[in-house]
Amino acid sequence: MQSKDVRQSFIDFFRERGHLHVPSAPLVPHGDPTLLFTNAGMVQFKDYFLGRETPPAKRAVTAQKCLRVSGKHNDLENVGPSPRHHTLFEMLGNFSFGDYFKAEAIEFGWELVTRRWGLSPDVLAATVFEQDDEAAELWRKISGLPPERIHRCGAKDNFWAMGDTGPCGPCSEIYVDLHPGRPAVPWDEGTDSGRYLEIWNLVFMQFDRAADGTMTPLPNPSIDTGAGLERVAAVLQGVGSNYDTDLFRPIIAAAAELSQRAYGSGEGADDVAMRVIADHLRAVSFLLADGVIPSNEGRGYVLRRILRRAVRHGMHLGFEEPFLHRLVPVLGEIMGSFYPELDASREATVTTVRAEEEKFLATIATGARQVQEAIEAARGAGARALAGPAVFQLYDTFGLPLEVIREIAEEERFGVDEAGFATALEEQRQRSRLATGEQQKRMGGLRQVLGGAGDGASAFLGYDELRVEGATATRLAAERDGQAIAVPALAAGEPGVAVFDRTPFYAESGGQVGDQGQARWPGGRARVLDVHKDTSGTYYHWLHVEEGRLERGQVVELEVGESTRRDTERNHTATHLLHTALRQVLGEGVRQAGSLVHPDRLRFDFTFGRPLAADELRRVEDIVNERVRLAMPTRIVEQGYQEAVARGAMALFGEKYGDRVRTVEVPGFSLELCGGCHVRNTGEIGLFTITSERGIASGVRRIEALTGRGAVDHLHAQESLAAAAAGALGVPLERAADEARALHERLKAGERELAQLRRQLVAGSGTAGAGEREVGGVKVVAREVPLAPADELRNLADMLRQKLGSGVVVLGARGDGKVSLVAAVSADLVGRLHAGNLVKAAANAVGGKGGGRPDFAQAGGRDPDKLPAALEAAVDEVAHQLAGPGG
Ligand code: ATP
Ligand code: MG
Repeated sequence: MQSKDVRQSFIDFFRERGHLHVPSAPLVPHGDPTLLFTNAGMVQFKDYFLGRETPPAKRAVTAQKCLRVSGKHNDLENVGPSPRHHTLFEMLGNFSFGDYFKAEAIEFGWELVTRRWGLSPDVLAATVFEQDDEAAELWRKISGLPPERIHRCGAKDNFWAMGDTGPCGPCSEIYVDLHPGRPAVPWDEGTDSGRYLEIWNLVFMQFDRAADGTMTPLPNPSIDTGAGLERVAAVLQGVGSNYDTDLFRPIIAAAAELSQRAYGSGEGADDVAMRVIADHLRAVSFLLADGVIPSNEGRGYVLRRILRRAVRHGMHLGFEEPFLHRLVPVLGEIMGSFYPELDASREATVTTVRAEEEKFLATIATGARQVQEAIEAARGAGARALAGPAVFQLYDTFGLPLEVIREIAEEERFGVDEAGFATALEEQRQRSRLATGEQQKRMGGLRQVLGGAGDGASAFLGYDELRVEGATATRLAAERDGQAIAVPALAAGEPGVAVFDRTPFYAESGGQVGDQGQARWPGGRARVLDVHKDTSGTYYHWLHVEEGRLERGQVVELEVGESTRRDTERNHTATHLLHTALRQVLGEGVRQAGSLVHPDRLRFDFTFGRPLAADELRRVEDIVNERVRLAMPTRIVEQGYQEAVARGAMALFGEKYGDRVRTVEVPGFSLELCGGCHVRNTGEIGLFTITSERGIASGVRRIEALTGRGAVDHLHAQESLAAAAAGALGVPLERAADEARALHERLKAGERELAQLRRQLVAGSGTAGAGEREVGGVKVVAREVPLAPADELRNLADMLRQKLGSGVVVLGARGDGKVSLVAAVSADLVGRLHAGNLVKAAANAVGGKGGGRPDFAQAGGRDPDKLPAALEAAVDEVAHQLAGPGG
């Protein structure tokens, strides 16, 4: 049975039993800031289980992509050695939202596993929570399993809870004996060794746990189950490891071929490396397909770490060049048909992965130098190991993994304080947890105070109306001492949050920022500063009462600031035009990676592997402005999701869309799913101009642009700048560029001449013996020279060294309260003299430090008056070094 048939048979089985097939949610959970990644099938249904939202059906079935690399479920370190743990895996699940319960869940599970999948009852076992007699009895009755194969287990594995409070309940798992022919072993031994393999977990949501720990039965108990597709496929395909299924074999084969190594039994170091690569390829590709961008924080950081982990394992296989991106198409072959986002993002994924690989390989190369320097410094200070904070800095600043630092240190025979590193790392984690935690608490607090089931949703009228009369303030909250609390009224001068039953204010979403404006009522007035909403459709208005008191129940007039809203609309429609124009100029591989629509400006991030050429940017601008000039009416309609996508609407992967979607169309040009605010006619945009284009992550570019008044103001400012430049050059604007170039040439020629003169000055006096002497039979030039740029000083030292043939040159220059020093030692003397130490001795005398190679070194100081003494110190050091240790 191929894995795609396993997946389909699961979905079909439950569809036949009245379950609605819901597509996999993105890996980035929607509207849940507390969770980094979707890590189970139930994540997208949380609000149904909590009773915050009404499910579209009472039964559902999904094949959900899951990622377990952080938080409560973190299997990252297991990947490779374990034949059954992945970072990214598919969880097959059936769900009952207050419909059927334990008996049916067990019946369905047993029937599917034994009848549809044809597993013999002899190889199966079940677990139940030790106190769940009901489940044990059901298993006995339904499956006929003998009592010794119905195991009672503790809360650790068999009691599930959504959080500290809320829905929870016992679970029951289905296990397969992978070696039924062998004598049975004790349960714990068999599960630890992987012989008894857990394939499916059934969660019975039975209780509601209160903060004090008391559990009350839920009025409508629910079911949430999860079976790992990879494990089931391994069992049904009769292989001992997930990596030997058709989900992984082609990837491993490709990795083996590229590296010219063989994949063996799965145990050897090369095998583990190939498994890690195959696993991480999946995680990386799915994350990129869901819009996560490699970065140094949050989700992007996790993505980057996984990718780099794969590259490191590739290095163990002997890869010295980027290779991971070459495996991306292989994954597309395996999973693209069920996860179309993989196919849609393939080109962009290849580009991004390749760029990240290159960057990481370069990081390792330069990082190696940084580590060596750090070791040198630590050695100089008498240490025998790199201290924790120093290791952390290398890790944090240069992105060097600990393993790489450790390897280099080992080569240098130097230690690494790993415990100190772990402490520094943990401290940083604490700091970042605190920062995100605060924000979450704030939103969470407000939501808890003001949200709640049922009456929460606010009617949004702002697509058509900017002013709404007769809106009622249904709930108010203020933040006191950083705590959100519900209040009956907000007094003048007080900031707070209000929920209204209806509102014209757009709440931040889809990249468009929240509206600003006013609330007015008899005797009072408030400024609306920002608006957010939650998944239940409650709109939170951040406002500042300027006059009077805003009481709960007050009927108010709400008005969105018209000119800023219109500016926002211009920028939003322009963003859509820009998106299409980019695809026209750069190709269909361009994908939106993020956007910000603000009244003052717009920002658009997209996947593309290189900077845009000036003429490409110009063409993009021209295409957008042409649409503006054509003054085309926009068409905004609601329709079925499938219908919209069939018409070619651009949907963003990683966004959650309902059955009914809103599409925004510029006829014949652009069609996108979008809930934002738009101009009625593209002519309203007036003018569009790009102000910057740059890379923000590997494979991701950012364009910033302006429209309307902002664009005109920008052009005026540019004009003034150009005029000012021309004025300073003293020529008309048309001649300014030529004049600047000519001036630049003259300046460069002058500098060259000056350098030449300085050289002659130094060389001429050098032969006459100025500063030249003999120390212990070695020729030494130690002297002051005119102030010159650092590279010129180096050249001077070099020239003098050559002139000496065999000898030492120490030069110093001073000016601006600073001293520059260089020391050069001719090759024949390198064994006896060390330029780095010479320059160090000199630097000490001028209050500075420095060092470098044995043949050449540079330093700086801060005490110009002491330069002559510094040069003497260097000469003394020559004598000292020549005398040898103890001399
Ligand atoms: P295990 O104890 O084997 O790590 P778990 O108890 O963490 O499993 P659940 O959280 O109950 O697993 O998830 C339900 C099912 O998802 C499991 O029965 C298993 O089939 C699958 N599963 C869980 N974690 C992974 C993983 N890291 N890789 C592949 N499949 C997994
Ligand atoms: Mg686990």
